[in-house]
Amino acid sequence: MNGEVSRLLSVENAKELLDSVDAFLFDCDGVIWKGENLIDGVPETLDLLRSHGKKLVFVTNNSTKSRKQYAKKFHSLGIPVNEDEIFSSSFSAAMYLKVNDFPREKKVYVIGEEGILEELEQAGFTALGGPADGKKNIELKSNCLFEHDKSVGAVIVGLDQYINFYKLQYATLCIRENPGCLFIATNRDAVGHLTALQEWPGAGCMVAAVCGTTQKEPITVGKPSTFLMDFLLQKYKITTSRMCMVGDRLDTDILFGQNAGCRTLLVFSGVTNESKFQDLSKEVKPEYYTNSIADLLKYI
Ligand code: PLP
Ligand code: CA
Repeated sequence: MNGEVSRLLSVENAKELLDSVDAFLFDCDGVIWKGENLIDGVPETLDLLRSHGKKLVFVTNNSTKSRKQYAKKFHSLGIPVNEDEIFSSSFSAAMYLKVNDFPREKKVYVIGEEGILEELEQAGFTALGGPADGKKNIELKSNCLFEHDKSVGAVIVGLDQYINFYKLQYATLCIRENPGCLFIATNRDAVGHLTALQEWPGAGCMVAAVCGTTQKEPITVGKPSTFLMDFLLQKYKITTSRMCMVGDRLDTDILFGQNAGCRTLLVFSGVTNESKFQDLSKEVKPEYYTNSIADLLKYI
């Protein structure tokens, strides 16, 4: 798509897009919902696409929930979605360890919330940290020595509303002192819509804190990582040129689709509005753009 001009979705090109793809990958926040609020027309649009035989997949960088918790959220919003149609960055982190044969006897230290802990448990890994360490503190005294578990072989960093000095010290020592310890970021979103009305600090700033103390760069497993795309493709066995990635962010969603050779559609129902898009869209260009996925109801 680089070098080409993005086009406004219309009756003519929406039909062509529908006919030429077998699967739609939907980003969640800003496309399906905003915080806890469903975006207008979404359930009807998804029903329409399913009635045309399209495979629907939901990909979210928000690591605070597990796939099981996301399936519950979809159901509570009146959208029937199965757990195996959801790819969250929390799930992707656990799958990264699994695919790379992370030794079961090693532990995983988590700066993050329940979603990561649940996915690690389901995948059979032992986790330390998470919300429980939110209450811990360090009392700095002279000769104070902070101990960490030498059997931690990976640190996962995601959005953590309870991040503190203790967790940063723990993660830092594991990465710096445990030989071969992996440093995994669920995602690097600068901000997120934890609530509908406002943006809040995203996992990106927590990851940056650990980059700062360790002077190391993490392996990122959420959008726009190739790990997540490759994992998803292995499961669905769909050619990327017959998939359309739909999202509200250029640097995560559209880049994720563009890198893999998918068709791409940017929507203005989330963090990118039309004027921001015109300013930003230099390197990453969606093939199409429109206000919301509900526009598909008008065009198909
Ligand atoms: N991370 C956090 C903490 C968020 O709150 C959000 C959106 O609400 C995201 C990431 C981005 O999620 P998505 O990939 O579904 O847009
Ligand atoms: Ca989004």
